[in-house]
Amino acid sequence: MDQLLYVLMSTIKRWLLVFALHLAVVAQAQPVDPHRLLSAYPAFLSRLDGQTVVWNDGARTPLSGAHLFTSPADRLNRPDLLEMFRQAYPACTPLHPPAYGEDPGRARPVSFFGKMYGSSPSAVRARLVPVNWFGQTLLFSGVNGGNLALEAVEKDLKGLPNLRNYLTPSAGTYLWRLVSGSGRQSAHSWGIAIDLNTRYSDYWQWEGYKEFAPGIPYRNRMPQAVVWAFERHGFVWGGRWYHHDTMHFEYRPELSGC
Ligand SMILES: [Zn+2]
Repeated sequence: MDQLLYVLMSTIKRWLLVFALHLAVVAQAQPVDPHRLLSAYPAFLSRLDGQTVVWNDGARTPLSGAHLFTSPADRLNRPDLLEMFRQAYPACTPLHPPAYGEDPGRARPVSFFGKMYGSSPSAVRARLVPVNWFGQTLLFSGVNGGNLALEAVEKDLKGLPNLRNYLTPSAGTYLWRLVSGSGRQSAHSWGIAIDLNTRYSDYWQWEGYKEFAPGIPYRNRMPQAVVWAFERHGFVWGGRWYHHDTMHFEYRPELSGC
């Protein structure tokens, strides 16, 4: 009986800890002005009408969906536009291990990005253009100047041969796929993400933890100079996430830039 009570108490304690951590995630909220969408994506968006984004083709997307989030995982699985801005992305600041649940830029409303970059493999592929990445030819989206931003990063880092091992070979850019172990569309599907050399990278899933488990150990070997070069040109970095993915950079000009 004592043992049963002990198991019950430790289960309750564990759940209380997870609940407290979830509350801490909500408390981290630092809302960012959604007007940044308009300056980031002028080829597609024309204005904000109250709480609705108006597209150049007349389509309208509410900033906030009708869905009430029930958990941090739910926020990632069914994010609305405001969810993208709930946690401020700390572009061009010194690197530091993120707090529990700090994942700025990891929420992506699928229909929003699909409308710009393509909502099927063939639609995305039609918009990919070749980019020279230190002698390797990569395909990256030509939409919203994504390819030009990646070229600008390469130019910034070209004169720093000591960083070359981190940057190349790239583990890939475009691939229509779900995020490993989830039902969520990966940013690689839209041709707006690049993975660098896996040899010098760290990824939370390699640690064997479940998503949102407390205490996922943070690891990073990516130099700050690489991160800042990408951030200067509108990329977010997966190493700024509690669910760290240090090889991963993603073109998100609504969140990043110095
Ligand atoms: Zn990636």
